[in-house]
Amino acid sequence: MIQTRGFGGPFRYLQGPGALKALPQLARPYGRKLLIVIDAFLYHDLKSLLESYLQGSELTSIFHQFGGECTLNEIDRLSQLGQANRSEVICGLGGGKTLDTAKLTAQALKKPLIIMPSSASTDAPVSAMGVIYQPDGRHLRCQLLEHAPELILVDSSLIAQAPIRLFVAGLGDALSTHFEAQANALSHTPNYLGPGYQATLAGAALAKTCHQVILKKGLKALKALQKQKTSPDFEDVLEANILLSGLGFENNGCAAAHALHTGIHEIEGSQRLYHGEVVAFGLLFQLILEKTVPKKLAPIVSFMAKVGLPLCFSDLGLPASPKNLTLISTRLLDGNSGIEAEPFPVTKPLIKAALKEADHFGQAYRQTNPHLPPALCKP
Ligand SMILES: [Zn+2]
Repeated sequence: MIQTRGFGGPFRYLQGPGALKALPQLARPYGRKLLIVIDAFLYHDLKSLLESYLQGSELTSIFHQFGGECTLNEIDRLSQLGQANRSEVICGLGGGKTLDTAKLTAQALKKPLIIMPSSASTDAPVSAMGVIYQPDGRHLRCQLLEHAPELILVDSSLIAQAPIRLFVAGLGDALSTHFEAQANALSHTPNYLGPGYQATLAGAALAKTCHQVILKKGLKALKALQKQKTSPDFEDVLEANILLSGLGFENNGCAAAHALHTGIHEIEGSQRLYHGEVVAFGLLFQLILEKTVPKKLAPIVSFMAKVGLPLCFSDLGLPASPKNLTLISTRLLDGNSGIEAEPFPVTKPLIKAALKEADHFGQAYRQTNPHLPPALCKP
């Protein structure tokens, strides 16, 4: 067992309304020539916004519209653009895949990295990790970076304008962090820093705080956001979704909940689901696989239901057919899904049984609580 403890994170994290306005001043120490990749959906609006903030500064910028998938080709395309323009700082503005492309480009070019999320849908902005996909949307691999981004700028007024479903997906991603950290601690699995180290007390404490903030303030933040209001609760939950969960997963590790995310992408029709939505159902699967007692399960499921996260396969819009359960369980046991971090031997029959039980549990919960809002991802 590795004895050394390890903890890592971004050099700076700044969050607040209008935080992006500080980009010129905060980017300047890293260089004058920025290469900025922006989400395709928001390209024109966000490009204009950044141009207005950069106007009058001594920085020059090249903008690139994200191609839609974080593939090896897209990273190569962006790297070539950076090289051709002698870019000194790589910036990403948008959703998780846009940001991952910026991360992997910065790594390829060995340049400083500034990350600016446009939603709080995942905890990816903080981590030194990028997920690469195949052109058809299937998961290819996770790639570790040498270090986390130099700067993360979270503009809460921008994120408050993002679709509610993205924020709720972020709640799902963050909700699992503490439980996955616990599984890793029990199995003494190394975390995701470089070659992997044992988790620190700091890492475990951040994951626990993340969990507490999400459960205590997640619904209040969501209700404020539905009225298009930001609030101190919203700022706290934003920090939990992005910073606490990001540091929490990277410094502790993922387990069955995130493993389900890699497994579910084997199923036709799963590409429309957000990462955090699958991870939320993955958490239910993990807790049942770990034989969590109903008393501990109840507050988690109640929270997921109230905010509109999926509780069963029908919420995800996917059939729980024997074929699909076989596809998922085969992928989960291929040796690098993350399920190896569970503190007991996991077998195909155990996975299938836990998936079925999670599905039945979620369906029964909906039937006995008919007043609940439907899952936001339900087709
Ligand atoms: Zn995640």
